[in-house]
Order: sequence, then structure tokens, then C-alpha cells
Amino acid sequence: MTDRYCVFGNPISHSKSPMIHAAFAEQTGEDIDYTAIEAPLDDFAGAWRRFTAAGGRGANVTVPFKEQAFSLCDTLSERARRAGAVNTLLLGADGRSHGDTTDGVGLVRDLEHHGVSLAGARILVLGAGGAVRGVLEPLLAAGPASLLVANRTAAKAEALAVDFADLGEIRGGGFDVVSGPFDVVINGTSASLGGELPPLPDDLFGTGATAYDMMYGAEPTVFLSWAAKRGACTVDGLGMLVEQAAESFFQWRGKRPLTEPVRESLRRTL
Ligand code: NDP
Repeated sequence: MTDRYCVFGNPISHSKSPMIHAAFAEQTGEDIDYTAIEAPLDDFAGAWRRFTAAGGRGANVTVPFKEQAFSLCDTLSERARRAGAVNTLLLGADGRSHGDTTDGVGLVRDLEHHGVSLAGARILVLGAGGAVRGVLEPLLAAGPASLLVANRTAAKAEALAVDFADLGEIRGGGFDVVSGPFDVVINGTSASLGGELPPLPDDLFGTGATAYDMMYGAEPTVFLSWAAKRGACTVDGLGMLVEQAAESFFQWRGKRPLTEPVRESLRRTL
């Protein structure tokens, strides 16, 4: 029988996840059906319950349900517990719900694919929302020389730095504490959505630095255009999207799909 999976969000019609997982299934020969489901804003748990009652085996979870998904899980991976959010749900054979977050591993794998070395790097992360919380653990695990989290609301970045301090060298503050040079600068704010750029100094990038924007689109974001003019190599978040999906697929099916061909065909649809 075909195993059922889905992505929950609201709204969800824009989601590329069904396309990505269909490509993974075809490539690996896995017999799965993966759909997009718009869950009610006030009853995510009910949507998951109904899905599993109808035979659903697992799901991805996107905005705005990652925290609600976290709350309903019977068991959590350590990285999901740290992130306080779940983007991957798995129904165990015992009927219990297990939660994981694969966004951070997706970001780190994408950076690796682009030849970016994080070990010993001076890393700046912009933003302190859900996406940034989800990527700090694997970034710190990669062994950077330093990691600064800078956010419009400084207190949120300071709080994140306290929460993750046991994992490595991490500081938090407002944009005013940002002083380069950095080797890797990751924009995890949603400023790019509105075509805005956080206030950043001109000497942000060291020689050979990489600028990464978690957002992606047909055109480079304002942040990536700004970074390219200052000599940085630029990467958008499309690869992160595909890599986090590949890690979810692995959690469900035990197979690792090749991500590069999927990323390339997805880029042609932007
Ligand atoms: P949140 O709403 O949780 O957080 C938004 C963050 O952006 C906050 O830190 C906020 O600062 C900051 N921000 C918003 N507007 C501005 C602005 N004009 N100037 C400076 N800072 C601003 O969002 P998420 O963390 O969930 O998502 C952030 C981004 O990451 C989105 O663009 C999202 O699309 C992308 N993303 C990409 C993924 C991928 O797979 N490629 C996966 C997940 C997310 P403050 O705290 O001061 O409000």
C-alpha cells in the first residue's frame, strides 16, 4: 500500500515540498503519496490526528505550525528540543508522534555543498526568529571560531546566545554590535521578504566570505545583491529547502536522495 505523507501549513498552496518529495520518491523508487494540507490555524493537533487516522505516516510542518507541532509530540529529537520547533513529524509503530527539526542540518549541508567551511569560521547570523533558533545547534556543532547573532530586537538575540551558550562560543546583540570582518554571514531575518536590508556596515565581509540568505526567489534578494557588490560569494536558501526535505525523507524512509538534481530542476520553476 502507498504510504501517505504531507506538508501542513496555512497558507500552503505555494509550497514546493510536494514537488520535492515526488522527485525524491521517483529517484529512490519509494512508493509514497505526498500532498499539501492547509490545517486550521487553531487546531493543528486535530489536523495531524485526522491525517494519521486516515493512514498518514509522517509530515512536514511549516509556518505557522512549527511550535504547535512541537507541543503535540510524544518524543523529540535533541535538536528539535533545542529549537523549540518541529518541521518533521513521524508516526511510530506504537502510534506515538515523534518530532524532529531538519532546517539546521539542511542549511549546514547546503553550505557544505557550496564548499563553505564552517570549522574555524567567523560566523554572523542575522535574525533571531524561529528559523535562526533552528540552525544554531548544527552551526555551533561545526566548530566555528565565533558566532554572533544580531537582531533588530537585541534582547531576542541575547536570549538565544544564553540558551545555546553550552554548545560553543556564541554572542548576541542588536545590529549596532556588528563589526566585521566575517567569513560567513547568514541572513535569517524576513527583511528580504519586504525587499528590506538590515543596517549593516560596509566592511562586513572578510576575503572569500560567503553571504547566505535563507530566502530564495527568481531574483537575488536585496541582501545578496548588496553582498555581491561588496565581494562576497552569494548563496540563496533554495538548497536549504531541498536539503531539509532530504533529511525528512531520510527520517521517514531510511534513504538519502540526491539533492543537486532536485535543486536544479526546482530552480527552473522559480
Ligand atoms: P520569524 O517571523 O520567526 O522571524 C523573523 C525575523 O526577522 C526576526 O528576527 C525579525 O526581527 C526579523 N525581521 C523581520 N523584518 C525585519 C526587518 N525589516 N529588518 C530587520 N529584521 C527583520 O521568521 P522565521 O525565522 O520563521 O523566517 C525567517 C526567514 O527565513 C524567512 O524569510 C523565511 O522564508 C526563511 N526560511 C527559509 C527556510 C528555507 O528552507 N530556505 C526555512 C525557514 C525559514 P525582530 O525579532 O526584531 O522582529
